[in-house]
Amino acid sequence: MTSQASASQSGVGFGQIAPPNSSGVSILIVGAGFAGLSCAIESKRKGHKVLVLEKFEELKVLGDIISFGSNVGRIFERWGLHDKFWPVCTHVDKLTLHNSQGDILVEQKMENPLYGAYSYNGHRGDLHSMLFDYAQSLGIEIRLGQDVSEYWETDSEAGVISNGERISADAVVGADGVRSRARKLVLGYEDKPKSSGYAIYRAWFDCEEQGVDKDPLTKFMCENGDTFHGWIGPDVHFLVNTSGGGRKMSSVITHKDEADIEESWSFPGKMEDCLKIVAGWDPRCAALLSKAPSLVDWKLVYRDPLPTWISKGARLALIGDAAHPFLPTSIQGASQAVEDGITLAVVLQLAGKQNVPLAVRAWEKIRYQRVRMAQVLGETNRDMWHKAKPDAKGESVSLPRPEWLLGHDAEKHAYEAYEGAAKDILETGYKLPTLPPVPAVSVAA
Ligand SMILES: Cc1cc2nc3c(=O)[nH]c(=O)nc-3n(C[C@H](O)[C@H](O)[C@H](O)COP(=O)(O)OP(=O)(O)OC[C@H]3O[C@@H](n4cnc5c(N)ncnc54)[C@H](O)[C@@H]3O)c2cc1C
Repeated sequence: MTSQASASQSGVGFGQIAPPNSSGVSILIVGAGFAGLSCAIESKRKGHKVLVLEKFEELKVLGDIISFGSNVGRIFERWGLHDKFWPVCTHVDKLTLHNSQGDILVEQKMENPLYGAYSYNGHRGDLHSMLFDYAQSLGIEIRLGQDVSEYWETDSEAGVISNGERISADAVVGADGVRSRARKLVLGYEDKPKSSGYAIYRAWFDCEEQGVDKDPLTKFMCENGDTFHGWIGPDVHFLVNTSGGGRKMSSVITHKDEADIEESWSFPGKMEDCLKIVAGWDPRCAALLSKAPSLVDWKLVYRDPLPTWISKGARLALIGDAAHPFLPTSIQGASQAVEDGITLAVVLQLAGKQNVPLAVRAWEKIRYQRVRMAQVLGETNRDMWHKAKPDAKGESVSLPRPEWLLGHDAEKHAYEAYEGAAKDILETGYKLPTLPPVPAVSVAA
């Protein structure tokens, strides 16, 4: 079977939408985060029968700032979401990076669009609810209040137990986040995260309500529309930006932290501890941080790359954070989660119902090294900032925005890469994926 032959069988190729349920493939997705929803949307577009199971009883506006690079911005545009996303996102043209004393190290241009597509940085809850509404508008069935407790597979299908009910499909997608239960079926054991030695105090709030616009030390963040600033010091980086024309502010400060508690998006942080990090720094840092009405203390854990993301029978695939949690400095966690889902939907269409395991194996082959390279970029970015000399300048502290990462089109690439990946597996057998040849990085976030 060739990808061209398969695509023409279903009559659908790159950028095209298939008639509902035309592929014959049924797909069960656990988790309605960005990974699960994106996989569901692209699966629907490719003619699969889709069911999404989500633990939340209701949709809540959770989290704070989240970023989607132009690599998936081009997908959101293709789905017609630009006009919805763009108004709620941050609109900045540069990042001004300082050392801890407030000297400017670099004013990095933030072109948007870049490589022919927009990036979107906004509140996770806003963007998530828009994606959720879009999925529902396509007629995708999303069942809320579903706690998936078990995963299984046979030669001909895979399935889950959710709220005591047994549900099956041709393929199951574990998009159930960092504490994935699906991972256990794939690995055969519980994957234990490592302490990274870092944590982030995060906040999102209204500038006017918190007096950011009145304080002479902080009003620069909102008096001229959206603004993006950063400060770096030994083992610390602090990023702050405004959205909505200077109305909302997001602040994230990554710092050393040995405390051994679970990662959580809702664990509260103490302002006095947060302010200790910037004692003796440019006074704007403490002024900005102290405007937050509350803080989330997000402990960053580290996981070694999993040896595989797919089950033995290749009917279960882990996508997004369930397969590969990212460091925030990669600015790619959510984007790679979306790319996973898009790629999987395309290869299942190309392979067809009779070849689901081949599709899932090819998907892992197409995705594994790219994801790892994006992860490593986050680790080197973090090191670049945390180890920078106080007088480091220009490119040596600029955020890399490489074309291989941000110019990528996951849908297009899946159509191009599937045939070769599938052929290789058919001819030489399935092999566990290998890590790309990149420098070894330390176990730290
Ligand atoms: C509450 C929350 C807030 C977040 N806030 C931010 C933020 O502010 N900034 C940021 O950059 N990233 C944030 N993230 C993480 C970010 O969304 C992910 O890193 C990224 O988008 C990859 O998404 P994902 O879909 O793989 O995982 P997630 O976004 O974690 O989604 C996983 C989904 O699976 C569901 N799920 C888990 N277990 C089960 C189960 N047993 N049965 C059924 N459903 C299940 C979860 O409820 C969740 O909706 C947050 C994640 C969560 C869950």
